[in-house]
Amino acid sequence: MINGLNSLSTLIERKVNSAKKGGRCVTCLSPHASHGLCQGCRNDLPHNRWHCYSCALPLAFATPGMRCGECQTAPPPFTRALIPWRYQFPVDGMIGRYKYHGHRKFIRPLLTEFSQFLEQQLLSEHRPDLLIPAPMHWLRRWQRGFNQAQDIAEFVGTRLDIPVAAGAVRRRRRTSAQRGLNRASRLVNLANVFEVYGAIPERVAIVDDVVTTGATVRVLTRALAEAGAQDIQVWALARTPG
Ligand SMILES: [Zn+2]
Ligand SMILES: [Zn+2]
Repeated sequence: MINGLNSLSTLIERKVNSAKKGGRCVTCLSPHASHGLCQGCRNDLPHNRWHCYSCALPLAFATPGMRCGECQTAPPPFTRALIPWRYQFPVDGMIGRYKYHGHRKFIRPLLTEFSQFLEQQLLSEHRPDLLIPAPMHWLRRWQRGFNQAQDIAEFVGTRLDIPVAAGAVRRRRRTSAQRGLNRASRLVNLANVFEVYGAIPERVAIVDDVVTTGATVRVLTRALAEAGAQDIQVWALARTPG
């Protein structure tokens, strides 16, 4: 009887633990997942192994400290971009299902690993005093119901014990997509788009889900630098190939 009760309680405990850890894999639905991902899908995560030291642009090969062509000709105003993955399968699908369908479970496995990645990076980088989510225009936020950058910032801010300033920067107007525009058009598209409120500390990190051309974070960095920030990092989950 006691043995029976013991095995019953073990069974219940296992079920609860597997539910707590995510149960099924969010990408392939395998029942053998840990914290939302099975080992196979975890191994498939496209680590941004070779990348530009400054803007994290994926490169075919890179030596430590190597910079991409754009960062060599026009060094970015931010100190460094810390971005662990490339915007490829399965990370693109996980971010997309979260961002466009609001399913937070798809992003949770990435957020846990992202926090660990940042902790590791901060052993050799300055620790920011404030996290600033990349702002969304109010209309787009209203349509989506949430700002993914703020969600990500709040998750890592809690894990890393760094405060998040959700309202520190506002987007004055909506902009058309940056992809497909040349460099000059991108900058015109983004001119005066960000407005900074309140005091900004010396060390901050901009947090976003995906960095595409890098033009948006450059413009946002300049706005924060004008407001007093001197050491600005860019933290994002994924970087597109360019
Ligand atoms: Zn899987
Ligand atoms: Zn670069």
